[in-house]
Amino acid sequence: MPATTPATTSAPSSAYGADADVVLYRPGGCNRCGRTGYRGRVALYELMPVLGSLRSLVHSSTDEIFEAAVGSGMQTLRQDGLRLCLEGISSLEEIHRVTGDRLM
Ligand SMILES: [Zn+2]
Repeated sequence: MPATTPATTSAPSSAYGADADVVLYRPGGCNRCGRTGYRGRVALYELMPVLGSLRSLVHSSTDEIFEAAVGSGMQTLRQDGLRLCLEGISSLEEIHRVTGDRLM
């Protein structure tokens, strides 16, 4: 998943909740990565500790549980993906491909 070429693009900082301008990367390509710009794999993490009020939602819908978890501070797959984008490890296109159309 790592983006290997620092071809940058500027994006409005408000779209990512940042206070400053951000630099995003697009995958380049070389002989080592077969001209894809990606080589190897990097995991996205979304951990939901079932503590406190989340315990009482065990019979609730998936959406209700997800909203409560996010409300209590859980970092979503997409948020973790955005972190990788900001670190120049992946691209927005790759994170969107992996996480789908989820809003969070
Ligand atoms: Zn390469």
